[in-house]
Amino acid sequence: MGRVTAIANQKGGVGKTTTAVNLAACLAAGGRSVLLADFDPQGNATQGLGVNKNTLENTVYDALVNGVAMEEVVLPTEVDMLRLAPSNRDLVGAEVELVGVERREYVLRDRLAAVRDAYNRIIIDCPPSLSLLTLNALVAADDVIIPLQCEYYALEGLSELLQTVILVRDKLNPSLRVLGVLLTMHQHTNLSRQVMEDVRGYLGGKVFDTVIPRNVTLSEAPSFGKPVILYDLKSPGAQAYMALAREVISRG
Ligand code: ADP
Ligand code: MG
Repeated sequence: MGRVTAIANQKGGVGKTTTAVNLAACLAAGGRSVLLADFDPQGNATQGLGVNKNTLENTVYDALVNGVAMEEVVLPTEVDMLRLAPSNRDLVGAEVELVGVERREYVLRDRLAAVRDAYNRIIIDCPPSLSLLTLNALVAADDVIIPLQCEYYALEGLSELLQTVILVRDKLNPSLRVLGVLLTMHQHTNLSRQVMEDVRGYLGGKVFDTVIPRNVTLSEAPSFGKPVILYDLKSPGAQAYMALAREVISRG
């Protein structure tokens, strides 16, 4: 069965979507069949893969709330082995509509169960909140990758997120584990270096060896609707996400 990896951090702008899109694309380019599930109503991962979020027939929302089969939602992408379960603002409604549902934390897990066999890996791009949507993602997941931006408040909110992971593991999904913490948007400044040292000192081996540099190609590629490996494979950003994909595979 395919492994499910959630990319989570309740802070916005830390590199979740960039990581979800590019890790998914790099794993797929390496020959694995990958599903990227956009689980953020902002639909940034959807747009970043060149899919217009405003003209979608079915989205993850329809799979969660309207009983549409996940297979009906999934779209092909420019990367052969990569498929996308798209989202848009409709997903905001799921937050409300799922509240009254039985086993409301398990809905995404149940919907993904039907397609898990078809993929080596399913990557879930989480919204910037510790909401019911994020809980659904953590319950559906085998593991979680936590991107942290190399800036002064990098660790802010992290203990709350780790406590949520522990809570989910204790009560809802005993097999959940933290696959790794990923340092993103690293620059050659004293602050970036200091943050890196602090995070490694605090979290040790949980931190991926791969560090994602701040690289303009990573912010340009989504405006062309492409993962960075199709936009500029030689760029430091593309190379970093290829290295991350190798490290993710080696971590199991
Ligand atoms: P999140 O999903 O956590 O909100 P994003 O992945 O959308 O974060 O990143 C926030 C912004 O920073 C986006 O505009 C994105 O293009 C940009 N960005 C992310 N990672 C990098 C990077 N390593 N180098 C340069 N820009 C980046
Ligand atoms: Mg995002």
